[in-house]
Amino acid sequence: MHIGDPGDLKKIDGFANAYAENCRRNRLNHKEFIGPRDRFNFTCKRANMCCKNFSSNDRIIIEPYDVLRLSRRLSISTGKFLEQYADLTLDDHTHFPVALLKYKGNRRRNKCHFLRSYGCSVYEDRPLRCRLYPLGRILNRGKSYFIHIGNCICEDSPGDKSWGAQEWTDASGAEDYLDYQGCISDIFSFADWDAYRNLNKDLKHMLGEALCNIDGFLEKIPEISRPVSDKEIMLSLKCWIEGFFIDNGCLESDYRTKKVVKFTAGTGAEKSEFTGLITVEKKETPLGVIK
Ligand code: SF4
Repeated sequence: MHIGDPGDLKKIDGFANAYAENCRRNRLNHKEFIGPRDRFNFTCKRANMCCKNFSSNDRIIIEPYDVLRLSRRLSISTGKFLEQYADLTLDDHTHFPVALLKYKGNRRRNKCHFLRSYGCSVYEDRPLRCRLYPLGRILNRGKSYFIHIGNCICEDSPGDKSWGAQEWTDASGAEDYLDYQGCISDIFSFADWDAYRNLNKDLKHMLGEALCNIDGFLEKIPEISRPVSDKEIMLSLKCWIEGFFIDNGCLESDYRTKKVVKFTAGTGAEKSEFTGLITVEKKETPLGVIK
């Protein structure tokens, strides 16, 4: 993982403004970037305070890989998981599909579905957002920028243990999650959001289905309908999304030259190669771009 130096962000045109705007829209304050050499203090007292009393602004966003891990943990399909435990919505600004963990209770007294008296009942498979707390990650063109979201809400001081961003993500078991989130979300650093916003609702809905309902997505692609590794599944998804954005004119034109993905599925005679090819001229269904 490349942890970006926050100083670099100033060199990325418009990024600081976009970030400030994002904080403003989500009413988030006091964010500090944690660069590769910065440290922060944090000690979890396991009081579970951060898993309840969510406001409408701080519900847990779940990534495609979160859905995959949690649905397996619960032995249900990703479609069933989304039906029972998530709300799919479109981001107000980008119109991008986002899955939010549902909570139990009402707006004032609520808690996560998975919180029990002893703590998180899905701890080993908890979503990336929960793993990273008190950090959040912003991806920009292959680099990760970490922000300190705030001190633990169940104690006055942040704790006495000191961490660097890499140490914290290693200790949280977040490596696979960050890789898989990264391989998909990095595409969006190159997105033309104005073009995306102009797509019709059906296309946006199709993207949301592919992103979150991975079992449904796999069924539509015969080449990978047999069991494959998490890596193969997530790279297939990445290829599909690249194709979707390119075919619908929503990626910067130079993206093609930067991103070509190759991977294999299956073993022995069953082994097959996939290339995440970007074919702008081809006007087939988005599934047509996976070879
Ligand atoms: S998934 Fe677990 S860690 Fe995350 S909010 Fe729910 S109970 Fe807390």
